[in-house]
Amino acid sequence: MALIVQKYGGTSVGNTGRIKNVAARVAGYYAKGDKLVVVVSAMSGVTDNLLKLAKEIMPLPNERELDVLLATGEQTTIALTAIALHALGIPAVSLTGAQAGIVTDGVHTKAKIKNITPKKIHELLTQGNVVIVAGFQGQTIEGQVTTLGRGGSDLTAIALAAALRAELCQIYTDVDGVYTADPRIVPGARKLEEISYDEMLELASLGAKVMQSRSVEFAKKFGVVFEVRSSLNDNPGTIVKEETKNMESIVVRGVSVDKNQAKVTLVSVPDKPGIAARIFKAIGDASINVDMIVQNISHSTGVPATDLSFTVDKPDLLKAQKVIDGLKPQIGFGQVIATDNIAKLSIVGVGMKSHTGVAGKLFETLAREGINIEMISTSEIKVSVVIDLAKAEMAMKAVHAAFIG
Ligand code: ADP
Ligand code: ASP
Ligand code: MG
Repeated sequence: MALIVQKYGGTSVGNTGRIKNVAARVAGYYAKGDKLVVVVSAMSGVTDNLLKLAKEIMPLPNERELDVLLATGEQTTIALTAIALHALGIPAVSLTGAQAGIVTDGVHTKAKIKNITPKKIHELLTQGNVVIVAGFQGQTIEGQVTTLGRGGSDLTAIALAAALRAELCQIYTDVDGVYTADPRIVPGARKLEEISYDEMLELASLGAKVMQSRSVEFAKKFGVVFEVRSSLNDNPGTIVKEETKNMESIVVRGVSVDKNQAKVTLVSVPDKPGIAARIFKAIGDASINVDMIVQNISHSTGVPATDLSFTVDKPDLLKAQKVIDGLKPQIGFGQVIATDNIAKLSIVGVGMKSHTGVAGKLFETLAREGINIEMISTSEIKVSVVIDLAKAEMAMKAVHAAFIG
């Protein structure tokens, strides 16, 4: 008998048939005497649709209201899942994030979990219930509804597994596990038996949406070992855990593409101390995450000036442009070029720490395909390049073939 946290994503609860399938899986564990906490996402497409409705009314809706709106997606699914369990004769109670004791900060649409008080969950489990918790949502101390960023149900599951000291944390999705690349884009991608937190973290934050990156960060911090597996079959999935020595023998564990990035370039920014600080302070104050930054001496003017490019998440582009427009009169840069026609392609592997020539081989592969590199960034275990969005999938296949085969 174990305490198990299971999370079912949008496709896994995409219609009532799928919800019944989830209930049947849960029933199997329940019959063995396990205690179950089941985190569910909104039915697939629901969150996107709610966002679309709000944006039909205005392009930049108030983020507090967005959270109130988006949280309804998961609230529908928890009730339907509980009802599906009742239909099988299993006692189940649904809880919103707030009812489950998930307390967050007040940064709407990307709130961070501050603490979890799982008293209610423990009570319900002790009474013999399956507890169904709404993913992706929480509540501030003041009682405001918040959401945890797209894909945030993963974080709800991992955080609950940590808070409840669960024996098992299973992330059920619509693929068999974590692959060397998105199997929907690269048909030759292979399922990994295991992957380290750091590799999973990089892959996730670089576009492999199979796990929300913040959830992996959380798992690493609290040592939550979890399995990513399919809700549609019984195949073993991928175990995500701390790095082991033999993981280093593989140079590139995976390839990912992030199509959710946009690039902003400020032309002829005055080249003097403090300017970059002012720009990125303002961007940070608006809660916009900046990823890559490249600064280059500009040769187009006589005065010392630099061109400054950075990338942000696509949904933040309008907000970033607004911040930059506000800075223009004080700082006095030239043209601002914003584009969302870019993608970030990355290769990831802990083996890069001990192998050389990886970046060179990546650039060579892209050159062979006639793909121009617009920005480059590296860390100990990854190399990323910004390229033309239209060429992203072609590039991904070529790079996967070159490094993984
Ligand atoms: P869920 O709704 O269950 O949270 P997501 O749609 O968020 O599922 O994530 C699963 C999807 O992630 C898969 O359908 C797959 O297309 C995509 N994906 C991207 N990169 C990878 C990868 N490296 N391994 C597995 N799946 C990946
Ligand atoms: N429903 C939310 C989303 O679509 C959270 C999740 O699915 O994990 O982003
Ligand atoms: Mg997801």
